[in-house]
Amino acid sequence: MKRISRWLFCLLTVAVILSCSTVAFTGRRRMLLYSNSEISSLSSQSYYELMSTMSPSTNTVQTALINDVGNRLAKALDRYLAMKGETQLLSDINWEFYLVRNTQANAFCLPDGKVVFYEGIMPVLSTPDMIAVVMSHEMGHALARHGNERMTQQTLVNLVGSVTGQILEQKSLENGRALFETAYTIGSQYGYLLPYSRKHELEADEIGLYIMAIAGFDIHQAPLLWQRMAEANTTQVPEALSTHPSDVRRMNNLEKLIEKAQKYADGVL
Ligand SMILES: [Zn+2]
Repeated sequence: MKRISRWLFCLLTVAVILSCSTVAFTGRRRMLLYSNSEISSLSSQSYYELMSTMSPSTNTVQTALINDVGNRLAKALDRYLAMKGETQLLSDINWEFYLVRNTQANAFCLPDGKVVFYEGIMPVLSTPDMIAVVMSHEMGHALARHGNERMTQQTLVNLVGSVTGQILEQKSLENGRALFETAYTIGSQYGYLLPYSRKHELEADEIGLYIMAIAGFDIHQAPLLWQRMAEANTTQVPEALSTHPSDVRRMNNLEKLIEKAQKYADGVL
């Protein structure tokens, strides 16, 4: 048993060293055990399963709006990262934007860059800038590889719990798929994603704000949207509009970041 524990410790140490990297824009260090291509392949499979249960919106005006805002954000981000020589941050992410028929006020982004808005969220988002707040937040989750980090954390919990060995089996494709689905809670019976942690939500808010700034959207709309949420005191709280962290906390956090975001807008950063 002692020897197994020592091996486990060594393996974990090597894994930590090899898989540490930093999050785009925020520079936070984190560990990712899965490759981007592994995650993307799992993401695509789940996407097709999920979308087979939904229909595209027939609202051509709103569909065009979602595409316009998404493409503007994606192009600006591409250009910015190319200029910085950091296009590898986008590896295995191919942005695509969809509006589907569903009355829930929801939106999500899969790790391979497929962003899905539900029709039910549109009444809350009255302008392209407001759409950009939610869209860039969702893109922020993908860019920060939050799904991979969540799967990594789950894998480590499983590893630590499995002192009896069979360690490498945890990374078999079948287990990868199960972990991915646990991490994302994707499935026709759910049709949405579990809320991310508070840390990931605030980080996606921050990255989203910078992407908005780079794309020339009105960054002041971001704290305003959360203020509107706080005032509306909505009882329906999907991932995109989750109340954890609280709307007020998100609003305050975004307000603190406005000055830095303005530097991205001005081309200083
Ligand atoms: Zn989120």
